Amino acid sequence: MKTQVKALVVGGGAVGTSIAYHLARAGWDDVMLLERDELTSGSTWHAAGLLPYFNMSYATTHIHDYSIRFYKTLEEETGLNAGFAVVGNLRMAQTQERMDEYMLYASTAETCGVPYQWMTPDEIKAKWPLIRTDDLKGALYHHTDGYINPADVTMAMAKGARQRGVMIERKWQADAFHWNGTHWEVTATKMAEKGGNLVPTEEQVVITAEHVVTASGNHAQRTAKMLGIKMPAIPVEHQFIVMDQDPELVKFRAEGNVEHPVIRDADAQSYVREERGGWILGVYEKNAPARFEYGVPDSFRADLFQLDLERIEEQYMAMIHRVPSCEQSGLKDDFNGPICYTPDGNPLVGPAPGLRNMWLAEGFSFGITAAGGTGYYLAQLMVEGEAEIDMASLDPKRYGDWMTTEFAARKNEECYDHVYILHHPDEERPACRPLRTSPAYDRQAMRGAQFGFVNGWERPNYFGPQDAPDTFDHDARSFRRGGWWQYAVDEAKAIREGVGLIDATAFTKHLVKGPGATQFLDWFTCNKLPNVGRINLTYALTGHGTTRTEYTIVRLAQDEYYLVSAGAWTAYDADYLRKAIEDKAPELGYIECHDVTTQWGVFAIAGPKSRDVLNEIVKDADPATVLSNKRFPWLTMRNIELGMCPVRAIRVAYTGELGWELHHPIEMQNYLFDQLEKAGEKHGMKLVGARAQNWLRQEKSYRAFGTELGRDATPLEADLPRFVDLSKDFHGKAKMEEIGMRSKCVTLLIDGPEDADPWGREVLYHGETRVGRLTSGGYSVAFGKSIGMGYVTPDLAVKGTRLKVKMLDQLWDAEIVEDSPYDPKNERIRIDG
Ligand SMILES: Cc1cc2nc3c(=O)[nH]c(=O)nc-3n(C[C@H](O)[C@H](O)[C@H](O)COP(=O)(O)OP(=O)(O)OC[C@H]3O[C@@H](n4cnc5c(N)ncnc54)[C@H](O)[C@@H]3O)c2cc1C
Repeated sequence: MKTQVKALVVGGGAVGTSIAYHLARAGWDDVMLLERDELTSGSTWHAAGLLPYFNMSYATTHIHDYSIRFYKTLEEETGLNAGFAVVGNLRMAQTQERMDEYMLYASTAETCGVPYQWMTPDEIKAKWPLIRTDDLKGALYHHTDGYINPADVTMAMAKGARQRGVMIERKWQADAFHWNGTHWEVTATKMAEKGGNLVPTEEQVVITAEHVVTASGNHAQRTAKMLGIKMPAIPVEHQFIVMDQDPELVKFRAEGNVEHPVIRDADAQSYVREERGGWILGVYEKNAPARFEYGVPDSFRADLFQLDLERIEEQYMAMIHRVPSCEQSGLKDDFNGPICYTPDGNPLVGPAPGLRNMWLAEGFSFGITAAGGTGYYLAQLMVEGEAEIDMASLDPKRYGDWMTTEFAARKNEECYDHVYILHHPDEERPACRPLRTSPAYDRQAMRGAQFGFVNGWERPNYFGPQDAPDTFDHDARSFRRGGWWQYAVDEAKAIREGVGLIDATAFTKHLVKGPGATQFLDWFTCNKLPNVGRINLTYALTGHGTTRTEYTIVRLAQDEYYLVSAGAWTAYDADYLRKAIEDKAPELGYIECHDVTTQWGVFAIAGPKSRDVLNEIVKDADPATVLSNKRFPWLTMRNIELGMCPVRAIRVAYTGELGWELHHPIEMQNYLFDQLEKAGEKHGMKLVGARAQNWLRQEKSYRAFGTELGRDATPLEADLPRFVDLSKDFHGKAKMEEIGMRSKCVTLLIDGPEDADPWGREVLYHGETRVGRLTSGGYSVAFGKSIGMGYVTPDLAVKGTRLKVKMLDQLWDAEIVEDSPYDPKNERIRIDG
């Protein structure tokens, strides 16, 4: 057995095997895979093998799309038939809301080039008469996917990997990981059979690897412990049953009819497919418990849990309703296995937090569907340094250190339970909340705040009625303009016309200081560094020239900087920043980096009357002028006192009006809130949530991280040349210039439907040609119509170009407008007083 390799993959399920295959295919010729038992002996062997395209995320749709295309090529490459039955996938809708969901999904699918077609109940009946359709509104049909044999596809990938030189070592368990400064030293123990159990032997080896990937499936908690990190990947029980032959089905097939597609009855939380003249029924039922929170017991190998028929009774009855001919079929077999989940349902794929050359591929609930694409894109990340799609939504660092086992287990149960709910884009999931609250949470809740969940924080989305029932927000959700819409309109108007107060405490905040800090940040970010007391918007790039993080940088002193970035990405930003500092400090001098996110609360006050509100409470030798343009110009920072609260005030406003961010000691937040509220009363100040803010920033064409800004576009493609200082050298610059302009960010005003706005996932057309996609969407109070931002081919990215946006399965007129269509000269932001 070789003990020195380029890359070591831990785990021989579908995911690990695909990663090993793709690393070899990407050109790494020294790849080894360790499997503690047999290949596929984790969750892979008992998967139902469905390969659904359906996914609301752009990145995941790409991953699934790659898998489906890749699996079709495997037989030719390996000679092994993975049993890919391209029977199609039929998603049925019992309600108009479900159809709305499918229409939003379909527009997203189109952005990735995934084919689909609509079917009416009559068309379904005509093709598959065994399906009951009288209660259906319609269905979405993907004819290019279907199901595969999970073990066979894994074996085919393993064969393909071996053919490309990958060493696959079975019955070896990775038991310890040690980073020696340049390589990982992985202690592996030989496992042996003993009385039906798998037990460690005395035999151990240490394998030195430049890179390690863990794909340990249900063993993720053990892996996390060995690595000293946190991973919210914990399995939940998942069941499917195999039924005896259905004579009607046998007859239908004997008559020469094609196999039924995978039938998804989302409103009945189940899927059904054919299996040797009978049916398989899989369910996503309520109350499925999380398992193995603290590790998989040694006695659990390729095992299953006991079937809990009672738990799935409702779905079983629903299946009989949908396919009445199965009523007499007995139960032939059952599967209740661990299926790994994460709180948001996306796997954890990417660099491990805090560690070098350690890559995670954990927490897969659709691991058969995702294995191919994960292997492909993760190999790109590892070999080339970046993937062609932005993998941030899968990054393991989207959960911070605040995350606990209890949180992950309960959230994962919720995620499982939510698989077939309506996936409203304005959905907020209730489990484990509130957890991370700013001090003013209770005050805001009493004033009607309906909170969203951002990296564990509670952040007001909008302020509804003060005496709203607990179900208010739930009932307000829609694929169109929900019950919350008018509240957000009123809040947005308050900022445009008067004054509003936004809680932005969740922002990520870092303090970077020390003799090497200036040179470091000058290299790390692409814009000029601000002078002391001033602020700049800037970007840290990936090594490939795309946007890794957006920062508002405040220069507090010559070598001291306060960095503000998106609230959802604290650990993600901290990890990149810290690793870059570690790399550069020896060359540039001592640099300190502190994550001060939880020490500072932030209120953003904005609107033409915001200065008037602050003037009521600001303490200064000359309070009448302290907030004037002369003493406090736009894009500067001053330490001011509001009542008795010391405030680091930053004159910026993400809404595009006169405004300040008020960064304050978190323990004084309630005091400051009361002061501001009292002062604001006289000026009609309104509390404002994130939804109105999101609309307002689009009127100013302010790009947001995670939507317009990400690892699949450079700041120049984001059309932000004014924040890129090409006269200096910075990380990623050469690659950014090399990439050129593949697509370009634009703002669009949209003449959409009367009752709906885009969500930022929709496809864009120019004539008959697909030319781009929206990345943000919403409603503009300034223009009285829908607004959106997105990427289009550069030739079309000019003011006045007329495009079409696909919403609710129709094409709507849209026009590319100038950057910052609202107040393009920034006169309102600079208003004096
Ligand atoms: C009932 C059921 C039905 C399902 N149906 C579908 C479906 O239709 N479609 C779909 O896409 N997904 C389905 N899934 C989910 C799917 O099974 C998983 O997402 C997928 O198998 C995960 O693959 P993996 O490689 O990540 O994990 P696993 O298959 O669990 O593989 C992990 C491997 O790592 C090994 N390992 C762990 N720790 C170590 C270590 N320290 N050293 C060496 N080896 C180690 C384990 O032995 C194991 O073999 C289903 C799951 C269940 C339970």
